Amino acid sequence: MTSTALRSRAWKLLEMVTTPLLPSDYLDLVSPLRAGADLRGHIEAVHPETGDAATIVIRPGRGWRGHTAGQYVRIGVDVDGVRLWRAYSITSPTNRQDGRVTITVKAIPDGKVSNHLVRRATPGTLIQLDQATGDFVLPQAKPTKVLYLTAGSGITPVMGMLRDIEFDDVVMVHCAPQPQDVIFRNELHDLVADKKLRLTEVHTAIDGMLDIARLDELVPDWAERETWACGPAGLLDAAEEHWSEHGVQERLHTERFRPSIVVAGDGGAVTFSATGRTVDADGATPLLDIGEEAGVLMPSGCRMGICFGCITPLKAGAVRDLRTGEITEAEPGVLIQTCVSAAAGPCDIER
Ligand SMILES: Cc1cc2nc3c(=O)[nH]c(=O)nc-3n(C[C@H](O)[C@H](O)[C@H](O)COP(=O)(O)OP(=O)(O)OC[C@H]3O[C@@H](n4cnc5c(N)ncnc54)[C@H](O)[C@@H]3O)c2cc1C
Repeated sequence: MTSTALRSRAWKLLEMVTTPLLPSDYLDLVSPLRAGADLRGHIEAVHPETGDAATIVIRPGRGWRGHTAGQYVRIGVDVDGVRLWRAYSITSPTNRQDGRVTITVKAIPDGKVSNHLVRRATPGTLIQLDQATGDFVLPQAKPTKVLYLTAGSGITPVMGMLRDIEFDDVVMVHCAPQPQDVIFRNELHDLVADKKLRLTEVHTAIDGMLDIARLDELVPDWAERETWACGPAGLLDAAEEHWSEHGVQERLHTERFRPSIVVAGDGGAVTFSATGRTVDADGATPLLDIGEEAGVLMPSGCRMGICFGCITPLKAGAVRDLRTGEITEAEPGVLIQTCVSAAAGPCDIER
């Protein structure tokens, strides 16, 4: 008998002994980060950055394949007994010697996962991990002039880039309510002191929101710069319009943390037939949120309509795509993205 066949027979025997659990469930208790296990990570430290943001240091398990600067990782965290998945940009450089990675999270009002990570996560906590992904990354060929345009927690993927690759000519315009809200402020100012970065901070609680037209004054050659922008929808929408008006849209790369919701309508009663639950939903809240809130086990991914990790059969009724307003009606085989679809009247979701 070959060694593979022997191993498989031994494993089957073990399965009989450990039923109803699997042998891997026991291995998870002693070695959750081992090769071959579902990808997980241990939180090893939590470092406060500002009053409402913290950097979480994670040791990924053996299967971690690394990342490219600017990418994000999805993590699954148990909050009050419910596993919730969210995406976070990786803020550590790709060549970190100790094999650990960091994410930096800003707690938002009523945010389940962000508040849990910033205020309650403790070293030793086991979390679920996906491989890093995303195309908000730097090109192979180094651009000669770079502009980073960021606001709030939108600084995170850019910090991953700044820590990874040096450019000859980098300008950053960063918006935050007040100086003490600027995440990584000391590190940014160190880069400025070392002449590795030119930085303009816009303090929106004092100066008001950044009017994108001010770029002419803040960064006169902005249109010549390869630009990476990340922040709230208002800033990114304005930037996309501005770059397009000047015919340089191909120089602008954006990363959004939330989908732009443009069309809301009337909601309806949503039935999750597999779970046997029916709840009222408005016409603006994604069905993913409605399901999670109702305690239904919902698959999820990027939560902004990119990855298709949340697709679910629509059994009856109609839903509205919150990005386009398009209505999808139930018919056999029709799948919907629950993270960007809301009820458009009564509907039945097969979960
Ligand atoms: C590609 C990608 C990268 C991301 N990187 C980071 C990062 O590096 N750091 C970081 O802090 N966050 C990042 N996010 C956002 C993060 O995934 C979560 O959306 C955020 O932490 C809120 O989750 P929550 O569970 O706390 O809020 P929820 O409990 O899901 O939501 C609570 C309330 O806040 C609203 N809300 C949800 N998300 C946001 C948001 N981003 N801004 C404002 N209001 C919101 C909801 O509509 C709801 O009303 C990223 C998102 C994506 C898609």
